[in-house]
This record gives sequence, structure tokens and C-alpha cells, in this order.
Amino acid sequence: MMNEENKKEIIAAINQRIIKLECPICHRSEYTFLDGYFVDAVQDNYRSMTLGGRMLPSVVLVCNHCGHIDKFSLGVLGLMAIHEEAKNTTNNVSPEDNA
Ligand SMILES: [Zn+2]
Repeated sequence: MMNEENKKEIIAAINQRIIKLECPICHRSEYTFLDGYFVDAVQDNYRSMTLGGRMLPSVVLVCNHCGHIDKFSLGVLGLMAIHEEAKNTTNNVSPEDNA
């Protein structure tokens, strides 16, 4: 789980960049912020999965009406350094481990 300060910071960063958040599917504007980080493992080959490579950390909003899921990159939001501690706790394998 995220701490309240991190949640507020993320929501503020999203609100700063998007004037009106609207679901692209049902066009409603009620979302739920999913409490936690998503970390996608970027793969060079779709036939096998390798852990410890490139990672894409993000946060997720879910449309309360239709369930559409939107992901927002922490890096693009400018929050990677601030959330480094959270990244380390959600990702036990880091690219540096392979060095
Ligand atoms: Zn929707």
C-alpha cells in the first residue's frame, strides 16, 4: 500500500496534466485510484519471460462505471525519484542485480 502523501502527489501530478479526466470508453468521469504500484516487466521475447530486466512502473485508475483501466507512467509524471523507495519494495529484482 502507498502512504497518503504519495497518493496525493500522484493524483496532483495527473490532475496537473489532464484538465478533465474522462473515460475513453463510457465518457464518465468517476475513477477509483488503485492503491499500489504496477510494475510491468518489458520483454525482448514474447515466448518467454525474463525477470530482472527493464521495468515500467505505473499507477492505475479504474473507471467506476465500465471498469476500463488506465495506466500512468511514474516516469512521465516525474515521480520516479520520489517513489524510489516504493519501487524497491514492490520489485525485489532490479536491473542492477544483473550487473
Ligand atoms: Zn468507463
